[in-house]
Amino acid sequence: MAFSLIDLPYDSEALAPAISAETLSFHHGKHHKAYVDKMNAAIEGTDLASASLMEVIKAARGSNQGLFNNAAQVYNHGFYWYSLSGESTTPSGDLAAAIDDAFGSVADLKMALKDRGAGHFASGWVWLAARDGKLSIEETHDADTLADSGFNPLLTIDVWEHAYYLDHQNARPSYLGEVVDKLLNWDFAADNFARGTAWVYPG
Ligand code: MN
Repeated sequence: MAFSLIDLPYDSEALAPAISAETLSFHHGKHHKAYVDKMNAAIEGTDLASASLMEVIKAARGSNQGLFNNAAQVYNHGFYWYSLSGESTTPSGDLAAAIDDAFGSVADLKMALKDRGAGHFASGWVWLAARDGKLSIEETHDADTLADSGFNPLLTIDVWEHAYYLDHQNARPSYLGEVVDKLLNWDFAADNFARGTAWVYPG
């Protein structure tokens, strides 16, 4: 089956000014769409044409870098859209307890996410993830993903320049500061933590 470009789970002004409607129009409507289109073209007429996105990622990892890059970027961008929200949310329940166990406090976790994101060399993704109930911050380079990694991804932040250049130019820490302080969707993270398995791309 062909995969689809999923809709953003909010309107295009919802994340402004940290992430403007103009950024979303390019990042979702051009970048994410291109990954979907290229993946669909690559699997059309092959054994993977009817596979799930997770199956495509697993099959391509290590054997077909071009397909892997596009499939992983389809997953990562879907996960990123859901990791953000224009509505203020806070960690609660089991997730809040796991954050305190691993990082000391929500404030300490937020500082660590900003530091890891700012320090990540070149393009990639910074994740809050769980494994055996224990939380950690993980980084993946370029298109790489935690989808099939054994970690349960809870949140991700895109640190490719295309995620922030129109709004923050080259100031990645400015983007990270606003995303981490204002836009992370802790309800999505809590749902992922409670489920215990990797989120499924809904398109
Ligand atoms: Mn991106």
